[in-house]
Amino acid sequence: MDVANRYRQVVQRVEHAQSQRGGGRLRLIAVSKRQPIDKLQAAYHAGCRDFGENYVQELRQKHGKMPTDCRWHFIGHLQRNKAKQLPEDTALVHGVDRLPLAQAIARQPPVRDVLIQVNLAGEASKSGCSEEQLPQLLEEAQQLSQLRVVGLMTLPPAVAHPQDARPFFARLYELRERLGGASALPELSMGMSHDFEEAIAEGATLVRVGTAIFGPRVS
Ligand SMILES: *Cc1c(COP(=O)(O)O)cnc(C)c1O
Repeated sequence: MDVANRYRQVVQRVEHAQSQRGGGRLRLIAVSKRQPIDKLQAAYHAGCRDFGENYVQELRQKHGKMPTDCRWHFIGHLQRNKAKQLPEDTALVHGVDRLPLAQAIARQPPVRDVLIQVNLAGEASKSGCSEEQLPQLLEEAQQLSQLRVVGLMTLPPAVAHPQDARPFFARLYELRERLGGASALPELSMGMSHDFEEAIAEGATLVRVGTAIFGPRVS
């Protein structure tokens, strides 16, 4: 199946899961990292506008080649010194996990929307602040006037069955409830190709789907 058809199929599954939970805020992000530009163009022509990349250089290149009404999401591990290389109109930086990075982003105009990444299982291999660090990091980041913290993001441990990821999604939702709820933090970025339906059931507002749309990545 081609990218356009796979994209449409994922959109249908997303919309179905959204109606199952009774609606609510939700956007599909097509994770296009390590995918060739013609596949992004195919997704664009099928209606896709949100793209996720995890390297600044690659994001900049694709940003330059794609129509200007695309919204670009940075979903990777951002180094402090790379913050200034993000295109000005980057829609959302998903992975802020430490204060120095928040400060580096805040130092560069324009005012940016960011999510705080939480490492719920405390995995050494993953970025993200711990649950314990979250309240303080959130408070400090919220004080930076050049930054808008609009929600939380997580990447749960690899599990055998999508259902096994649900407790992590539920946990992120619960943390958000404790920290002011949806009015303070409207976005919850969680769920990927193999578990986005579970994440939507648990309240995701942004799902990041790569291989289910574009097929295997080139390495
Ligand atoms: C690569 C990546 C995705 C997409 O993963 P798929 O399994 O291809 O859907 C989502 N989120 C993050 C943070 C990623 O790095």
